[in-house]
Amino acid sequence: MTETASDASRPADTAGRVEALKAEILRKLTYSLGKNASVAQPHDWLTAGILAARDHVVDVWHRSTRESYETGRKRVYYLSLEFLIGRSLADALNNLGLTGAMAQAMRELGVDLAAIETIEPDAALGNGGLGRLAACYLEAMASTGVPALGYGIRYDHGLFKQRIDGGKQIEVPEDWLSFRNPWEFERREASYKIGFGGSLTATQKPGEVFWEPEETVFAVAYDTPVVGWRGRDATTLRLWRARAMHPLSLDAFNQGDIVGAVAERNRAEAISKVLYPNDSTPAGQELRLRQEFFFTSASLQDLVRRHYRQFGRLDNLADKVAIQLNDTHPSLAVAELMRLLVDEHGLPWEEAWTITSATISYTNHTLLPEALETWPVALMERLLPRHMQIIFGINARFLEEVRRSSGGENVDLSTISLIDEHHGRRVRMAHLAFVGSHTVNGVSALHSKLMEQTVFAPLHAIFPGRITNVTNGITPRRWLFGANPGLTKLLQEVCGDDLTDRIGNIRRLAAHTGDAALHQRLAAIRRENKLKLAKIIRQDTGVTVDPDALFDVQIKRIHEYKRQLLNILETIALYDAIRSEPYRDWAPRVKIFAGKAASNYGTAKAIINLINDVAVVVNNDITTRDRLKVVFLPNYNVSAAEVIIPAADVSEQISTAGMEASGTGNMKFALNGAITIGTLDGANIEIGERVGADNIVIFGMTAEEVEAAKHNPRPTSEVIAATPHLEGVLDAVASGAYSPRERDRYLGLVEGLRANDWFMVLNDFESYRQAQRRIDSLWADQGKWWRMSVTNTAHCGWFSADRAIGEYAERIWHVPTSPDTTAGG
Ligand SMILES: *Cc1c(COP(=O)(O)O)cnc(C)c1O
Repeated sequence: MTETASDASRPADTAGRVEALKAEILRKLTYSLGKNASVAQPHDWLTAGILAARDHVVDVWHRSTRESYETGRKRVYYLSLEFLIGRSLADALNNLGLTGAMAQAMRELGVDLAAIETIEPDAALGNGGLGRLAACYLEAMASTGVPALGYGIRYDHGLFKQRIDGGKQIEVPEDWLSFRNPWEFERREASYKIGFGGSLTATQKPGEVFWEPEETVFAVAYDTPVVGWRGRDATTLRLWRARAMHPLSLDAFNQGDIVGAVAERNRAEAISKVLYPNDSTPAGQELRLRQEFFFTSASLQDLVRRHYRQFGRLDNLADKVAIQLNDTHPSLAVAELMRLLVDEHGLPWEEAWTITSATISYTNHTLLPEALETWPVALMERLLPRHMQIIFGINARFLEEVRRSSGGENVDLSTISLIDEHHGRRVRMAHLAFVGSHTVNGVSALHSKLMEQTVFAPLHAIFPGRITNVTNGITPRRWLFGANPGLTKLLQEVCGDDLTDRIGNIRRLAAHTGDAALHQRLAAIRRENKLKLAKIIRQDTGVTVDPDALFDVQIKRIHEYKRQLLNILETIALYDAIRSEPYRDWAPRVKIFAGKAASNYGTAKAIINLINDVAVVVNNDITTRDRLKVVFLPNYNVSAAEVIIPAADVSEQISTAGMEASGTGNMKFALNGAITIGTLDGANIEIGERVGADNIVIFGMTAEEVEAAKHNPRPTSEVIAATPHLEGVLDAVASGAYSPRERDRYLGLVEGLRANDWFMVLNDFESYRQAQRRIDSLWADQGKWWRMSVTNTAHCGWFSADRAIGEYAERIWHVPTSPDTTAGG
């Protein structure tokens, strides 16, 4: 072929391009799917469209990969147990500049592109923010010219689908591969052996050990190209699938042992079977550890082999390779890289250690003690004997070094040891990642500061300067240009067409803050988005909502620290207030919730149940019906977020201060012009600094106050007595006012709160209630409201993932980015 499929950067010969796309789609339909246009189902059109688009992505991808190979540029390897991608077609078409042409081509074939885009399944290989961050960063690296590969697991089943039945969460297995995945390429040739268990023998060479695993599984690569803005570059998402070495034991089969014949296969393939539906506590299970080692080992073998093939040496690994650990799940990378360098490539320990710690860096995502990963030493010794030995080796040298340089004074070695000796000997994975990295980052300014002051304080004292901050970012391509085309068009009118290339130009909007005509147009765009959401709410829940009401939205994983409970309790107080003064001019509100609870998290599930029970009562009360509605939208995922966020007037970011590392939902909302009601937590603080205190509604205790209150708690009875309305609300919930058919359904929930207000729901209730009334009065002055909204959009370009990637590239990875794309806000 002399011509490449992608012509996104060439001046458009639109008609010619549409004709070419039509021919490509029909060719895919006919020869790849074996279907005739006259019998093709919507799904066939979708697959044909994806395959046609994918060709254009592949052209970019090959060029990118060749360029980075030929120039020998440093590459970033982003290791993450989760990638919460969502749908890909609309994003790829937008980035390629092919949206209009594809829509026209499909239209001429009698197909509605927008409709078939919505049947693409969400790739839900993640739980929440951490996985979505990895997806945003892969796209942002493609958009800013950072050569990169994302490594993860190709789960057969992503995050469960949530149904709501009788107000309760039901988990249904997710099946994103049931129609195959047209985006991916299977790479049988790129497969690696992953060992577990077995025995160790020392070899002749000092330090080198021969590990003979008891069990070996194959990791097979599946590659998906991720195209960046304007199709200039593409990165690779390489996901590993587990395959058995011996898929079938013929002997067993022939003796009639049908189950035993595939036992090895089932055990091996279980590794990439399901995503753990839990992002906050380690599933205390061997399978989870097997998953972590499986994808970490495959990824490291792969990148070391690629490097060695290209350069023929490993001493320059850190010059050509940056390995980023997204949380501690891949922190075995520290031990695995040491093993590869020492045992497989014969490097001396000290040199291997220098290379390892110059190559790896680690992002911390949580300081909650219950979410800090640790593994029993006994389990590690059984499953990964060589790695456990290496970790002991790292630890011994590290502690000796500290002992020597401190002269034995003032350092409590038990706080910095990689082994926690207090709880039955466990490996501290965050310590391992910290010690094995050259740089460790938190994900918001507050979070990074708390890292230094709390969990990592002793390590910080030994390695001052190792901790840095890179506040999270979101890709504006998906979360503004893709999700909110109406707003984008208006912003381009005001800020210039090149806004999509320079998100920093969104600041130009600030000059138009008080423009009443602009406000009207923004209000009309928001109303359109709300109508679209209202239709979905009606379809999915049967509830009718008024698009002129205030849409007050809390969408995120259901967790006590995120405090959906605070929101619903305040909603009950509002409901009571409206009923007792029905003739006041209450601003009509729709309370919108969505989110999944981990399947084993009883309290979170009870909160979902309560929201749904409150919804039934409130939505059917004729006295409040046109002032207050409560909606729980089932099955929150990326696609749902893309519809909900552009329709939000208020963004609920109400976590207990000090507990949300950053949040990224908060950024998506603010960029789309919603007003944040939030605590001084995570990136809320930085949003507040950028938009100004008058344009965000802050309430509640600070992180310091929360910390103090935990050590010296005020009796909850005292807090309740001092808080207007609270006793009534708690009593109503506890006595079954919202669960008349099971009166004690929420007894435990309320008793739990009364016993211990760990998440400061009671403590922050009054402050939150007053903040909500502040929202009411701001909403009553629509001129003011839209000035605030404009200010939020104008000052949140800084939260672009391109800015965040620019910081990682410059300060952590030491790789260049293309200068024209990273303009911050
Ligand atoms: C952005 C996003 C998140 C993270 O939301 P937070 O409010 O920061 O917790 C979780 N899930 C999905 C689907 C998202 O798009």
